[in-house]
Amino acid sequence: MFDLTDKVALVTGASRGIGAEIARQLAAAGATVIVNYHSSQEAAQQVVADIEAAGSKAVAMQADVSDFQQAGDMIKAIKKEFGRLDILVNNAGTTRDNVIALMKEEDWDVVIRTNLKSAWNCSKAAARLMMRQRWGRIINISSVAGITGNAGQSNYAASKAGMIGLAKSLAKELGPRNITVNAVAPGFVPTDLTNYLLEDEEMKKTIIDHTSVRRLGKPEDVAALVVYLASDEASFVTGQVIAVDGGLAL
Ligand code: NAP
Repeated sequence: MFDLTDKVALVTGASRGIGAEIARQLAAAGATVIVNYHSSQEAAQQVVADIEAAGSKAVAMQADVSDFQQAGDMIKAIKKEFGRLDILVNNAGTTRDNVIALMKEEDWDVVIRTNLKSAWNCSKAAARLMMRQRWGRIINISSVAGITGNAGQSNYAASKAGMIGLAKSLAKELGPRNITVNAVAPGFVPTDLTNYLLEDEEMKKTIIDHTSVRRLGKPEDVAALVVYLASDEASFVTGQVIAVDGGLAL
């Protein structure tokens, strides 16, 4: 078990799905966790209650992380309340899928802002604190779509490839200050984001057939890797893109 005692972690988009499980596992490893959400206040409060019931510490914080000001203000509030920020998990994400002929400009803008600009917004504000602390971990939740591309997801795949470029660049910039930056690329994990696809039994079977370990992913699969990357034990791992996809992208 990795020990994150005394660390303060922010997980963006932690009210549901993969982010909620990352928050739970970071807290179980000893971190105090800020459970960021956009609109699902009740769900975020439930994640905090689960963490507290397990004997760990968490608070919910509302912010639209795609908004530069709101992301910066949230990280200022974290500094004020906890005095530091050690671990940032850029997890908030959304989709607006369509083939390019039918994709609206707004679908492109919303997905790039929510998935990619949010990661830059939060990384910029967090890096200031982490540089002063001479310790930090930034983990971008990308996607296998950012590695392989995906028909009907030009906006999403571009945003997720962007998160990889962001992670590699920040790894080079911030490494000398003892800050590591990595990208995690999940395969298919049933959540609110993907359930509409997985309701189609044929689609679900095709995805499983293309996955080497012949199953869908679980939020726990992704969260376990994030806890490792956040730990002291991962201090020599930076600028990497690690797929948690059961072999889907092979
Ligand atoms: P999800 O269940 O739809 O949850 C998305 C989360 O993002 C929610 O907590 C939501 O908050 C939050 N969010 C969205 N826009 C936000 C904003 N502007 N500001 C703050 N929070 C915002 O999605 P998920 O499947 O867990 O996905 C989590 C991450 O993993 C995403 O980046 C996704 O691209 C990536 N991923 C997922 C899969 C998969 O198969 N599920 C595969 C590869 C990568 P509210 O609840 O408040 O709206």
